[in-house]
Amino acid sequence: MIKKILLALARAVSREPDTASTGPSNPMSYRWRCECGAKSRYSDIKAGTEYNARRHQWRFPAGHPKPEVYAVDEA
Ligand SMILES: [Zn+2]
Repeated sequence: MIKKILLALARAVSREPDTASTGPSNPMSYRWRCECGAKSRYSDIKAGTEYNARRHQWRFPAGHPKPEVYAVDEA
């Protein structure tokens, strides 16, 4: 019984994605897109994407919409 649980755990661990560079706690990639038609050139972790989205907004006079940050499924 215990052996079965250990085997299941070992299998779950080995099933972790190969792209471990971002860490298992943050497996998602994020992108941003803006109402003006602009969008991110590449995906990033959430904090990086939010920063890039804000940088896009700052390039324009006040009143420019804040880009939408959304998760993507790519590795
Ligand atoms: Zn924009």
